[in-house]
Amino acid sequence: MNMTRRDALKHTALLGAAAAVAPGLLTRAETASLPGAFTLPDLPYATNALEPAIDTKTMQIHYGKHHAGYVRKLNAAMKSVSGTPSLEDLFKKLDEVPAPVQTSVRNNGGGVYNHNLFWESMAPANKEGGGLPQGALAAKINQDFGSLSAFQEAFSKSAGSVFGSGWAWLIVRESDGKLVVTSTSNQDNPLMTSVVKEEHLGKPLLGLDVWEHAYYLHYQNRRSDYISNWWKIVNWNEVERRLG
Ligand code: MN
Repeated sequence: MNMTRRDALKHTALLGAAAAVAPGLLTRAETASLPGAFTLPDLPYATNALEPAIDTKTMQIHYGKHHAGYVRKLNAAMKSVSGTPSLEDLFKKLDEVPAPVQTSVRNNGGGVYNHNLFWESMAPANKEGGGLPQGALAAKINQDFGSLSAFQEAFSKSAGSVFGSGWAWLIVRESDGKLVVTSTSNQDNPLMTSVVKEEHLGKPLLGLDVWEHAYYLHYQNRRSDYISNWWKIVNWNEVERRLG
């Protein structure tokens, strides 16, 4: 399922469709003028909208520097890749990416995908953020974990246990369709076929960035406080939409 360049642009444009422009940062329109098919989607809220769980300065640097950097470096690496594969296609066939840029496509492609998903997985606490999962998502969490609190405990433990930089994930496992908690190092994710063990492969519904750049300015070494506050801004409606 190869995406055309036009489709890739349309896809990233859709990701940012409902967005308010974050002041003082690169906008989607600005990054769209840079060479390459992949663009930085607008944030779906202002950079101060997730306070106090995630502070404004962290959001500005995380989005405007780190995420933008992954987009820029991915586009540079993609000059050595033929065609215009989507990120999902690339993750399935990383071992076919030309050797000189394979690591860059893995790290920066993961960085782009993971952060796109991360921003969309959150919402201000006084809007869609926080609360409880509803409907089919709530039912499936209860079915596969026993209860919401059992799931949250497993997820928080996974996020707290990542050694160094990485992500915690809730996925629909490819092999059996069950909801499973997992984690990856660096910018790897559960779609990377040749990277992740089979029992950890699946469709990501929710991801938590536990790189120090995601929390250190405000929380310093208190990653567990970052994780517990993050639950207050999870956008469960978006997670349920991904469940499909
Ligand atoms: Mn990050």
